[in-house]
Amino acid sequence: MAASDVPGGAPKSPPGQAARGNSGRNRGRATPRPKRIPERTCVACRQVAGKRTLVRVVRTVAGGVEVDLTGRKNGRGAYLHADPACWDVALRRGSLNAALKVTVGEADLAAIRAYRNELAGTAPATVAELPRTDSNDHAEDAPTATIE
Ligand SMILES: [Zn+2]
Repeated sequence: MAASDVPGGAPKSPPGQAARGNSGRNRGRATPRPKRIPERTCVACRQVAGKRTLVRVVRTVAGGVEVDLTGRKNGRGAYLHADPACWDVALRRGSLNAALKVTVGEADLAAIRAYRNELAGTAPATVAELPRTDSNDHAEDAPTATIE
């Protein structure tokens, strides 16, 4: 049994700064999965929740802001519960502007509102913290009178 000496100074992979090609098409690799569930803070109610129960909003490289349903788009992200109430709060308070450090443009706001209305129409199945016994509300295209 020979005590094998590890040759000193084995270069560890440098932290961060992995030069990643910006192609966005490398989905063939299995990403390593840490065991713990990633948690994020909802920018509206400030509650921490598992990433999967939150919806990501991303500031794209181009400076637009959009709902990122894949959760994998490049750019700065903010998270909101899949609950229209949180989106209302975020829209009212400008939480997304603050979190994303950008002024969300009108077109993007419209898209975000549309998504919020979608949430209002489909009962969120994942929100565990607020047990709503009464899921009886038909959200049938409420005529939203937008005052702007
Ligand atoms: Zn929330």
